[in-house]
Amino acid sequence: MIRTAEVLVSSPSRNFVTLRITTEDGVVGLGDATLNGRELAVAAYLRDHIAPLLIGIDAQRIEDTWQFLYRSAYWRRGPVTMTAIAAVDVALWDIKGKLAGMPVYQLLGGASRDSALVYAHASGADLEDLGDSIRSRLEEGYRAIRLQVAVPGMGGGYGISSARESGGRYTYEPAKRAGLTIEEGWDTRRYLAYAPKLFEWARSTFGDELILLHDAHHRLTPNEAARLGRSLEPYDLFWLEDVTPVDDPEALRLVRKHTTTPLAIGEVLTSVWDFRTLIQEQLIDYVRASVTHAGGITHLKRIFELAALHQVRSGSHGPTDISPVGMAAALHLDLAIHNFGIQEHMAHHTATAEVFHTSYSFDAGAMHPGDAPGLGVEYDDLAAARFPYEPAYLPAARLRDGTIHDW
Ligand SMILES: [Mg+2]
Repeated sequence: MIRTAEVLVSSPSRNFVTLRITTEDGVVGLGDATLNGRELAVAAYLRDHIAPLLIGIDAQRIEDTWQFLYRSAYWRRGPVTMTAIAAVDVALWDIKGKLAGMPVYQLLGGASRDSALVYAHASGADLEDLGDSIRSRLEEGYRAIRLQVAVPGMGGGYGISSARESGGRYTYEPAKRAGLTIEEGWDTRRYLAYAPKLFEWARSTFGDELILLHDAHHRLTPNEAARLGRSLEPYDLFWLEDVTPVDDPEALRLVRKHTTTPLAIGEVLTSVWDFRTLIQEQLIDYVRASVTHAGGITHLKRIFELAALHQVRSGSHGPTDISPVGMAAALHLDLAIHNFGIQEHMAHHTATAEVFHTSYSFDAGAMHPGDAPGLGVEYDDLAAARFPYEPAYLPAARLRDGTIHDW
C-alpha cells in the first residue's frame, strides 16, 4: 500500500520535479516529473490532484494505476497530464524492482543488448569552435554526435553553446534563469544554404565513421524540410530531427516523398495516439518521445511496440531537463526493447549529481543502467535543500522582420 506521495522541487543547476512514493513497508520509488519551463504546473497537478488518490492503493498495480489516472481524469493526454502520470508510473516500476530485488530492465524482459548507444551534442559559434567541441566529445568516448553551429550572418541558431551563459564552452542549456523569455533570431534561407556546408566540412574533417545527427528544431515548412533532407543525403546522417512542427503529422508525407535522409521526431508528443500516423505510415525512422513526458515506462513501451511492427526504432529524448531519474528509466527501457535505435545523452551538471545519486555508467560511447534493484537512483534531500526552485524559461525565436517563429 502507498503511504505517501511527495512532490520534490529542486534546482541543482536547473529545475527538476521529482515524485517520491513510499509504501507502508518503507519501500521508496522515484519518478521524474520535469516539464522544462513549465515545471510548477506538473508539480501542482501531482500535489493537488494525483497524490491524494494514491494513498492507500496497491503499489504493485502499475498497469491498473496508469489506466485509472489516465481514464478517471476524463481530460486526455497533453504534456502536463502525461508527465504527471509518467512520474507515478516510473516510481511504481522503481518500487516493483526493489521488491523483486531486480533492476527494472529485468522486469521488462531482460537485456536485449550489452549497452545502449548514446549520442552527445557538439556546437560552436563557428566551424573552428565546433571542431574543438567535436574533438572533446571524441576524447570522452562518444561515437555519435549531434552537430549544431551558428549560421553566418544570423548571429546564432538553435542549440549553440554560450561560454558566457553556461560557464562551459560545450555546454548548452536552453532554459534561461535570467528574467523572462529570451528572444533569438532566425533566417531559414541562410540556414538552408549553410547546413550542407556544415556537414561537408564535418565529413571531410572527421571522416565517414563518425555517426552524425542534426536537429532543425521545428523551424521549417514541409517543403523546406524536404529540401534540407535532400541536400544532406551525401553526408549520411544517422537522423535529421524535428524538421517541421509535429502538430500536423501528415506534413511528414511530403518530406518523405523527397528525401531518404532518416527522420526523427516526437519529443513534444506524449501519447501513442500522437504517434499512430507517423508510425503506421512509416513517415519517421525514429521515435523521439521520452519516458518522462510520454506516460512513463508503461506507455513509452507501448509506443515502441507499435513502432516495432513498422520497422521504426527508438531514439529517446535525453537532454539535461530529463532528470537522472528519467535518464535511468530511459536506459532500462533502451536495454530491454528489441527495436532500440539510439539514446540522447547530455551529461548533467555536477550540482545535479549532488542531489541525484545514480547507478548508470558510460563506456566507449554507450550506457548501461546498472544492476541495482529498481531504477538505481537515490534522492538526497539535504543536498536538494541547497538548490531551491528558480524560474527559468525556454527561448523564443523571431524572424528578421520581428515575426514570432517556432523555437
Ligand atoms: Mg529535438
